[in-house]
Amino acid sequence: MSIQVFGLPVSRGIAIGRAVLVASSRVDVAHYFVEPDRAADEVTRLRQARDVVALELETLKRDLPGDAPPELAALLDVHLMLLHDETLAEATKHWIVERHYNAEWAVSAQTEVLARQFDEMEDEYLRERKADIEQVAERLLGVLAKAKPRLPLSGGGARDFAGEDPLVLVANDIAPADMLQFKGSVFTGFVTDVGGRTSHTAIVARSMDIPAVVGAREASRLVRQDDWLIIDGDAGVVVVNPSPIVLEEYRFRQRQSELERARLDRLRHMPSVTLDGQSVELLANIELPGDAPAALEAGAVGVGLFRSEFLFMNRNGELPDEDEQFEAYRSAVQAMNGLPVTIRTVDIGADKPLDRLTVHELRHEHALNPALGLRAIRWSLSEPAMFRQQLRAIMRASAYGKVRLLIPMVAHRSEILAAIDAVARAKQQLRESGQPFNDVELGAMIEIPAAAMTMPMLLRYFDFVSIGTNDLIQYTLAIDRADEAVAHLYDPWHPAVLRLMAGVISAANTAGKHVSVCGEMAGDTAFTEVLLAMGLRCYSMHPAQISSVKQRILRADTARLAAGLGALLASDDPVNEWQTLTGRRPAGEPTLIN
Ligand code: PEP
Ligand code: MG
Repeated sequence: MSIQVFGLPVSRGIAIGRAVLVASSRVDVAHYFVEPDRAADEVTRLRQARDVVALELETLKRDLPGDAPPELAALLDVHLMLLHDETLAEATKHWIVERHYNAEWAVSAQTEVLARQFDEMEDEYLRERKADIEQVAERLLGVLAKAKPRLPLSGGGARDFAGEDPLVLVANDIAPADMLQFKGSVFTGFVTDVGGRTSHTAIVARSMDIPAVVGAREASRLVRQDDWLIIDGDAGVVVVNPSPIVLEEYRFRQRQSELERARLDRLRHMPSVTLDGQSVELLANIELPGDAPAALEAGAVGVGLFRSEFLFMNRNGELPDEDEQFEAYRSAVQAMNGLPVTIRTVDIGADKPLDRLTVHELRHEHALNPALGLRAIRWSLSEPAMFRQQLRAIMRASAYGKVRLLIPMVAHRSEILAAIDAVARAKQQLRESGQPFNDVELGAMIEIPAAAMTMPMLLRYFDFVSIGTNDLIQYTLAIDRADEAVAHLYDPWHPAVLRLMAGVISAANTAGKHVSVCGEMAGDTAFTEVLLAMGLRCYSMHPAQISSVKQRILRADTARLAAGLGALLASDDPVNEWQTLTGRRPAGEPTLIN
């Protein structure tokens, strides 16, 4: 039966494919396809892993101390029985042979199927056996992780043989660092139960430019392994097992949206200038140095935000040292061929923990309110040696191109002074050790209302500012950006948000300092003209969004837009006010947009 699940649209387009359900705890399991003629080898790898686990369990049982409770031996027997049971052993083989999954993926897919069956059992004793299945699967995955295949994989996990259905990933929650590993993966769409539109998991999904819906609450419970899904990333709808008519309709829309993208692609290398001759810089947001070529390809004239924290995540506590960071920054700088690269110092904390915790785990097992806790510059200043190491690495990369240094979440004068002091010390250390570096402009992210309201002070200390609207909205409206329960109140059109942003842009322009927006608002075409009206001339966004924003800029007249700014900022209902002014709603008055 076909059902629809509603969530939040986070990444545009339509994906149609079979569901791959992944438990949050197993998102880091390797997912790739094996060539059909290597399926037998993969089945052998699985069988060998099973033999190793069987031996482990038998040894454990044999070595149980004499006074061990008898339940322990019984439990090990249950695990041995499950290991050899048809429903795990044979069915796992099926995923390898029929669907070409690698052994780890096959084990986790079949474990997910069985876990659901156990969840639905009436009998409490049987329901509890789910934990046993999961423990056996953990052991198998542990052994498989150590016994990697001997032959190299084809195409980084991409499928290079024809005739298979596309796949979409469904999970309760995915940590941002885990999402990152799906870049260039086999999945053509994503759905998660939790998350807000500007949660970092959503941001990474958007940077991959494939359709995604988050905050779909029940999705991972309602969807079954292998169900057909339509993910409508524009409307935030997931259709489970669609009827042939619905499927046809969406396939048609999918083709239309591909045509539209191809049309937009032609704007890639056109200069971005408004009708009245105002040049607008369009920069790219990147997570890893490997994203830089895509930024250039999309026509970005620099990197406006390199979220350096992604280099720090998912490393089991072992942080990248100065040289490793330097190599990463240098490679991004060199890839951009002399265009500016804005490297933000590490913004760890809130929904970006160092380890693989999801937002749900963070909220329930850790700080009460991680978004208000030790994150970004607060964390960096609490780890001075680490901070100076990062500053030195960034500064060293400046010898290879144009680097700007951006500090996240500043609000207090004491933090500004401490950050400036750390930069001065890092430079001094480089001079003493004879390491070359160039001038690096120092910028502040405006993400906290307190910073937006004290612009004269910030502009005295910083060379440029960049507005992080994702956090500015979160902190202005007291809405956790990662919480789907309050997502309807996360409103970029709120008068307070617009007034703060207009104030920041105007203060920077008046002081002659460079200002950009690097939050998600910059890549959302609903705001392109609003930001132009405020006087913004530099936007930083996911590379895939650049062409559509440029299209809006090419059609805009900044003088006419600016004439409507007063009315917009004075309005209690800015979204309607703006729609009337720009002619997207009938009002009988002249409009601002040609
Ligand atoms: C922002 O807050 O708008 C921003 C760009 O930073 P991040 O999304 O990484 O918090
Ligand atoms: Mg931020």
